[in-house]
Amino acid sequence: MIELHCHTTVSDGTLTPGELVELAASLGITHLAITDHDSTGGVKEAARACGSRDIVLIPGVEMSATYQGRPMDLLGYGIDPDDPALSAALADMVRRRADRLGEMLRGLRSAGIELEEDEVIQLAAGGVVGRPHVAQALVRRGVVSSVAEAFDHYLGRGRPGYVPKENFTPEEAIELITGAGGVAVLAHPRYLKLDDDQFRALLDRLMDAGLAGIEVYYSQHTAEDVARFERFARQRGLLATGGSDFHGANKPEIRLGIGALGRPLDETMAEALLERIAAARHKKAGG
Ligand code: MN
Ligand code: MN
Repeated sequence: MIELHCHTTVSDGTLTPGELVELAASLGITHLAITDHDSTGGVKEAARACGSRDIVLIPGVEMSATYQGRPMDLLGYGIDPDDPALSAALADMVRRRADRLGEMLRGLRSAGIELEEDEVIQLAAGGVVGRPHVAQALVRRGVVSSVAEAFDHYLGRGRPGYVPKENFTPEEAIELITGAGGVAVLAHPRYLKLDDDQFRALLDRLMDAGLAGIEVYYSQHTAEDVARFERFARQRGLLATGGSDFHGANKPEIRLGIGALGRPLDETMAEALLERIAAARHKKAGG
């Protein structure tokens, strides 16, 4: 069993990178990629935790992009977590999102709700601050009784605290991943809700930028999704990867190492991915 898509406390998961490695080891996972949102901050701790264990750690990231107004995530594998261009772009994004927080809080103030920046930032526990943390702060203050209610009344599109999210373009994300020595994979394509023609047009665009794979065996994909995206991957010569999108207790129904249709994720896809990473590094080194 392997895992190529999971989150730690560095973004919105509940296990630290070390705890996640421990869980992976206890499950007999052989290859592990930690893919926190817009951060490579957990890679080193995970590598230390792997230590002498029999786990191949693949440094990863899940970058947030926007495509035609829709959110689109790109997974990066085999990246150098210290790559200067990638690190600078991620740090810049954190700053832009912090500015967004200020705007959200100003919007809420106009609706008569006072929140302090610090109380929201604390809830993000060092990760990327986003709407879920503002929602949690509103729950804590007793303004609303649930995160869902916070989104409905205050943070959703058209509400006083709504500010569009700052994101990368898909091309920027792919180029940053590739530039950091990694390979880029389109995450959970089901969520894009594109028809076949639209998806083909998307692949044309992303493959020009260097896309290497599609996350076919995603835990929330149906049998129909799997068949459909397998077909696209085969037609385009793209890698077909998979992952659970484990978030710990934040999404308790998702289990580490389990992909589409409740099946354990297979080692062969990690091996194919590692081959592609090696080829990308060779190419980057000018070989
Ligand atoms: Mn995602
Ligand atoms: Mn994810």
